[in-house]
Amino acid sequence: MKQPTHAWIAVRAIALLDDEKAEKNLVKLLRPHARKAAIGAWIPDLGAAKRGTGKIQNHIFKIMPYHGDEARRFTADKDKLCRRIGSRRRMSGFLRDDTTLKSNWWGKAYKANPAPGKHLANCAMAMSTAMLDLLLLGESSVDRLLPGVVRYIKYVDQEARTREEQVALHFFMLSHFIADACMPCHCDGRKLAGFDKGLHKEWEAHWSRKVGRNFKKKQIRQARMSGERILDQAREVDAAFELDFGDNSVPTIKKGRDLWLEMIDVCRASFAIASIVAPPGRYPYDRRNRKAPFDVVLSDENLPLRRDLDRVLMHDAVLNVAMAWKSVWKAASPRKKAKTASS
Ligand SMILES: [Zn+2]
Repeated sequence: MKQPTHAWIAVRAIALLDDEKAEKNLVKLLRPHARKAAIGAWIPDLGAAKRGTGKIQNHIFKIMPYHGDEARRFTADKDKLCRRIGSRRRMSGFLRDDTTLKSNWWGKAYKANPAPGKHLANCAMAMSTAMLDLLLLGESSVDRLLPGVVRYIKYVDQEARTREEQVALHFFMLSHFIADACMPCHCDGRKLAGFDKGLHKEWEAHWSRKVGRNFKKKQIRQARMSGERILDQAREVDAAFELDFGDNSVPTIKKGRDLWLEMIDVCRASFAIASIVAPPGRYPYDRRNRKAPFDVVLSDENLPLRRDLDRVLMHDAVLNVAMAWKSVWKAASPRKKAKTASS
């Protein structure tokens, strides 16, 4: 996704957590820094995101048909995938309602082969694990927002402790990987989903136009406004995507699962969506250069599909970011002691 969309998704995720009212301290920490931390939401896409290589740190999960001998492992049962995705995410409803991908499509194995260091789910998982440590070592204003006591903190130099601004910046950086998983072209190994031209770029440009200029880097950096106002500005974009966050609830990652598994499932659903938009019957996986231009596959003639996907993908991008943040925050908060039978 492009810079304005990434910035908007992350700021909108704060607004969603604000509306949910369950993790007030997390919102208290992020909201005042939203404007300055926004750059974090697109840092991973910037040239020299990895110092020394001078290249963008590529982070992808491009799935293709798999013909190895572990076919069962890489076959996703539609029902089970939708159940894991959960009804709160719009992707599951969208896939359940879809009739274009038949059982023979779902019955096949698909797998991504990202090069070392580029695995999208690994990037997100690594970042979220680092966040936990940053939160453990927070300066007093960060520490105050989390329950429990970190006994060894007195041995950690003030200067070495995590400032609020750093926490916010890293939360925004984490949002980047999660939002990318909701972009179907990021999860489709066909040439037609490549980044530099065609469907991928055009679809993202379509979203940027809807997000509008308020979230462009210059505008957001120069805007003199309160954290509350920026959150409102993010909520105002909902109409362009016809978004409805329902009861504003933000689930956390279920017991026994982690952000890595969630990311894999979301990427798998994204790949299915890419295969609905550009059906493999017309755009085979093994055809190298076949293009699926945005104004063909998501043209005005396909308006209902385009609008559905605007709603589904943007809703889930925001929700997934809020879910991941909330899960990190909760993991950093010690659980209340369970009452024993005698007390
Ligand atoms: Zn990216």
